[in-house]
Amino acid sequence: MTIRLTIWHEYRHEHNNPKVAELYPDGMHMGLKKGLEPFGFDIKTATLDEPEHGLTQDVLDNTDVLTWWGHMAHGEVSDEIVARVHERVLGGMGLIVLHSGHFSKIFKRLMGTTCDLKWREADETERLWVVDPSHPICDGIPEYIELPQAEMYGEHFDIPAPDNLVFVSWFEGGEVFRSGCCYQRGQGKIFYFRPGHETYPIYYNEQILKVIANGVNWAKPVSNPPMKRGNIPEFMKKQDA
Ligand code: ZN
Repeated sequence: MTIRLTIWHEYRHEHNNPKVAELYPDGMHMGLKKGLEPFGFDIKTATLDEPEHGLTQDVLDNTDVLTWWGHMAHGEVSDEIVARVHERVLGGMGLIVLHSGHFSKIFKRLMGTTCDLKWREADETERLWVVDPSHPICDGIPEYIELPQAEMYGEHFDIPAPDNLVFVSWFEGGEVFRSGCCYQRGQGKIFYFRPGHETYPIYYNEQILKVIANGVNWAKPVSNPPMKRGNIPEFMKKQDA
């Protein structure tokens, strides 16, 4: 079945930084949409300044996987919408958290830690090394992805130990970073993927798009009947015991 993907984007840097506007003339969300279309997803977009940030209950109920990019306006995301997204993730919706989304309310809530890290903007080379080659997110990805210009993120990254660590980045300045981290929370799967600084053409890189597409495929919900919890008296006696 076709995966229903919603690309959520803060969409603020494009309005106040000409470099970002030039890179993503229709917004990074539209750039990502175009880049992910060849993978066959049913893609919609949503942005911060739309009513309910574009994430109405109806939109979320009809989303299999949500991607999240935010940076300068994490604080403007309403707690009510964060709670709504959180509930959907626990119920099985996949979530792909991109780059500076590490500091989003939803990621911090799901992780339970500060999600803080070191950073530096110095046009450094980054190599994202595959450290879990049999993981579906690494399908079709070479030993490493090299980005000629990137913002540096460095350890220590204050996150819980990932269920699966799939990429570790090396930066020219010497730092390393856990760049591809997989988690499960409730019935939902979460993939944090580091690349995506707004002033570099990261989301035009075919290998980066392939990783995101693999992440979407990995994070899609499985079709289970709803879990029964609480008191279940009908199972107190075993038949033919
Ligand atoms: Zn950045």
